[in-house]
Amino acid sequence: MRKSYLMTPGPTPVPSEVLLAQAKPMIHHRTPDFSLVVRECVSGLKYVFQTEKSDILIFASSGTGAMESAIVNCFSAGDKVLVCYNGKFGQRMAQIAKAYAVDVTILEYGWQTCVNPSDIANHLQANPDTRGVIITQSETSSGVLNDVQAVGEIVCNYPDCVLIVDSITGIGAVDCKTDEWGLDVVMTGSQKGLMLPPGLAAVSVSAKAWRAYERSSLPKFYFDWKKYLKNLEVDTTPFTPAVSLMIGLSEAIKLMREEGIQNIISRHERLAKATRFGCEALGLKLFAPPNGRGNAVTPVWVPDGIDGKKLVSIMKNKHGVTIAGGQDDYAGKIIRIGHLGYFGNFDIITTLAALEMTLMELGYEFEAGSGIRAAETILMEDSK
Ligand SMILES: *Cc1c(COP(=O)(O)O)cnc(C)c1O
Repeated sequence: MRKSYLMTPGPTPVPSEVLLAQAKPMIHHRTPDFSLVVRECVSGLKYVFQTEKSDILIFASSGTGAMESAIVNCFSAGDKVLVCYNGKFGQRMAQIAKAYAVDVTILEYGWQTCVNPSDIANHLQANPDTRGVIITQSETSSGVLNDVQAVGEIVCNYPDCVLIVDSITGIGAVDCKTDEWGLDVVMTGSQKGLMLPPGLAAVSVSAKAWRAYERSSLPKFYFDWKKYLKNLEVDTTPFTPAVSLMIGLSEAIKLMREEGIQNIISRHERLAKATRFGCEALGLKLFAPPNGRGNAVTPVWVPDGIDGKKLVSIMKNKHGVTIAGGQDDYAGKIIRIGHLGYFGNFDIITTLAALEMTLMELGYEFEAGSGIRAAETILMEDSK
């Protein structure tokens, strides 16, 4: 037998309480029993999204469904929208908007650079008729954390411009103050910080985003936000929901409420810091810039002369530890260690141990145990 460990930034490990809740016999979704689940999911997600003002809508889809919903519900063909990105997922938002004939302007940064909020301010000043600014808070492909709070301070000065935030690996890992920061649309997916299997997505919709909805004329049906809002008034969903996943979500929310959102974020901070220290002690170079390192995933350069794809496959096939490789231009060049959702101190130790053993096998020279030791120092400091 070889025990398996899932150390990727999505899908992420699922706690046994959540797995067991999902294994219960099926219930019908037009019943008071299920309405109770809907209420728990909505109020729990409001807690996690740190919002009291926005509505929370839940879809049976992957995260990309929530992304598409943001476009079709906020805009009309020809609307001017600014998409800012420094990685693969931000780029996807631009692709979706273009597919719906939205007039997209792109602010593109390298994968190792944070989005600069003053570029957004300048663009809006020159183009005050812009209807939306789209940004990824935690860019999973590059590990870069963008300052959506600063962007919120800019966009709130434009009453007809909504701020759309992909926080799919932000929610539950880094602070995301939906109300306080003026984030009009925030989205997440179940297989990331919510500690669930894939298949659910959620968005928060502010009053400003509802005004955008009223103006919007893009075609929509399955993802029509109003359908979800109307059904929420009677604690249900317009279409058959992912019943088991929502039962799992209500259980995951119990766990998240018990720990508390600020403690969840601090735990992620600690695990991310331990991972960074561990990797640096091995002589590996971090990929994300010092001013923009998120808590969800740590991307690290593969040392010269070592094949990154081989490294990932040895870790999985020989040691049972699944981490992610690089995407697009960085395939084979970086590895990405996930620590998002149901992760604790010893998951970091396990991953670093497997990384050390793999690097040894690949002939990389370093002091054995140095990565684990460095990580332990951080984990001990912070658990005092
Ligand atoms: C995972 C992810 C997505 C896409 O979600 P899917 O569930 O694969 O559709 C979008 N944005 C970010 C930042 C992600 O991490």
